[in-house]
Amino acid sequence: MPTVTARHPLEILRHTFGYAAFRAPQEEVIHTLMADRDALVLMPTGGGKSLCYQIPAIARTGTGVVVSPLIALMEDQVTTLRQAGVAAAALNSSALPAAARAIEETLLRGTLDLLYIAPERLLQDRTLSLLQRVTVNLFAIDEAHCVSQWGHDFRPEYLQLRVLHERFPQVPRIALTATADPKTRAEIIERLALQKAAIFTRSFDRPNIRYHIHSGSQGARNALLRFIRDRHTGEAGIVYCLSRKRVEEIAEWLQGEGLDALPYHAGLGADERRRHQQRFQRDEAVVMVATIAFGMGIDKPNVRFVAHLNLPRSIEAYYQETGRAGRDGMPAEAWMHYGLQDVVQLRQMIQQSGTDMPRKQMESHKLDAMLALCETTHCRRQTLLAYFGEHLSQPCGNCDNCLQPPATWDATVAAQKALSTIHRTGQRFGVQYLVDVLIARAEPRIHQNGHDRLSVYGIGQELSANAWRAVFRHLLLRGLVEVDAEGHGGLRLSSSSRPLLRGEETLTLRQQESVTPKSRDKRPD
Ligand code: ADP
Ligand code: ZN
Repeated sequence: MPTVTARHPLEILRHTFGYAAFRAPQEEVIHTLMADRDALVLMPTGGGKSLCYQIPAIARTGTGVVVSPLIALMEDQVTTLRQAGVAAAALNSSALPAAARAIEETLLRGTLDLLYIAPERLLQDRTLSLLQRVTVNLFAIDEAHCVSQWGHDFRPEYLQLRVLHERFPQVPRIALTATADPKTRAEIIERLALQKAAIFTRSFDRPNIRYHIHSGSQGARNALLRFIRDRHTGEAGIVYCLSRKRVEEIAEWLQGEGLDALPYHAGLGADERRRHQQRFQRDEAVVMVATIAFGMGIDKPNVRFVAHLNLPRSIEAYYQETGRAGRDGMPAEAWMHYGLQDVVQLRQMIQQSGTDMPRKQMESHKLDAMLALCETTHCRRQTLLAYFGEHLSQPCGNCDNCLQPPATWDATVAAQKALSTIHRTGQRFGVQYLVDVLIARAEPRIHQNGHDRLSVYGIGQELSANAWRAVFRHLLLRGLVEVDAEGHGGLRLSSSSRPLLRGEETLTLRQQESVTPKSRDKRPD
C-alpha cells in the first residue's frame, strides 16, 4: 500500500529534477522497477540512464543502492542530487571512517534515498549484512558492461555482483550500460542472472551528426583549418589529438590562425584546466584542442563539431567522443583525419601495453573494427550502428559516403582467395600468417607446416600485404570470418561466408593508399 507521502514518478521528475517530460524509455523502466521486476537498460551516453533508478529509489520507501565503478562520477551525482534536495550519499574507499559511520546511521534510520557504493565496498560481508537490516528498494548496477571480460572496462568484482540476487531475491535490480553489442548484452544477462529482466534499448543513432572520415599522410592541419573556417566559423567545437605535445602544437597553431583555441590535457595544472573548461562551457566559439582526458562530464549542448586528428582506438571511443557534438539536436559534424602512422602507433601501444594475450587480441580487434569503419564505402551510420547491433534499413544520406560516394575497387575475388586460404590452412591461423601465405613470403613456419605446397600459396601476389589486411578487416567486421574462441587470434569461416564464396555476394573496398591493388591493371581472376 502506498503511503500518503509516496510521490508519483512524474511529480518527482518535475519538482525534484525540473524536467517537463520523460524521455523514452525512462517511464517504462521506472514502472518496471516499481512493479518489483528487474530491468536491463541499454542506452547511449547522455541518454538519461540515471533517472531510471533515481526516481523509483526516491518514490519508494527505503533506499536505492547504486553500484558504480567510478568514484569521481559517484561524487558528481551525489552533489547534484543533494542540490535537488535528494538524500544521497556515497560510500567508497575515499570516505573517512567517521563520514562512513554517519552515512551508515542515516541508512539505518531509513532516511536515505540513494546510496552510491563502489563494488568492492558493497561486496564486503559487513556491508551486505548492514543492507540486510534496512529496506533496500532497488539495486542499480551502473556501467554493467564491466562484467564483460572482453570489454574495455572489465572489473573482476562485478562478477561477484550476482550475490545481490542470491542474498536479496526480493529486491528488483536494474543494470545499465551504454555498450549494446549483442555479445556484451548476453554476458551481462548471464553473469548478473538477469534472465527475467525486461530489456530496454534506445537507438544509438544520432541523426543530426554528419560523419566525415578521411585518411592521408599529410595535410591534416590544413584540412582541419579549412573545415573549421568553411563550416564552423564562430562556433564551438572539440579537436581531439592523441598526445599532449600535439594538443599544444595544434592549439597554438590555430590561435596563430586567429581562432579562439585552448589546449586541454592531463599535464596542465588543475587551475588552468578548470579555466579552459569554463571558457568552453560558457563562451560561444571556443575550440577546445584536447586529449581524451577532456570529455567526462561535458554538458555543453551546442558543440557544433568534434574533430579527430588521429584514430580513436575503438568504435566505442569514437562514438562516445563524437557524441559530444550536437546534444541540442541541431545539425553537427564529426570530422576525422587519420594517417597510417596512427594505425602503427596504436598497434604498438596495444603490443606494448603489458596486458595478457587475450586482452591484446581483443583490443586489436576493436582497432580493426574502427579501421573497417574508416575504410568502408558504405554508409558510415549503417556501419556504426551495425557494430552496436542495430540495423538501419536505408543509407542515411547524412555522411560523407552517402553524400559523395567514394572511388572503390571490387575485392570479391580477393575475399574469396582470403577465405580459401583460411580454409586450406585449417582455420587456425591469424591474419599475419594468412597474408604471408597469400603473398608467398619466405616464412619458415609456412614451410614447416607444408603450406608452401598448398594451391593457395602465393595466389595473392597482385595485392600488397596492407591491401590483404584491409580485406581481412572487412571480412571480420562483416562477420564473414570469426576469431577462434581460445583467443589465439586464429580465423575461421562463419556460415555467412558461403554466399561470398559462391559468388552470390560481392565485396567492395575503398580505393586508398592502404588498400589499392599494387597494379590496378592486373586484377586477380
Ligand atoms: P547517461 O547516464 O545515460 O549518460 P544522464 O543520466 O547523465 O545520462 O543524463 C544525461 C543528461 O540528460 C543529464 O544532464 C540529465 O539531467 C538529462 N536528462 C535526463 N533525463 C531527462 C529528461 N527526461 N528531460 C530532460 N533532461 C533529461
Ligand atoms: Zn550514410
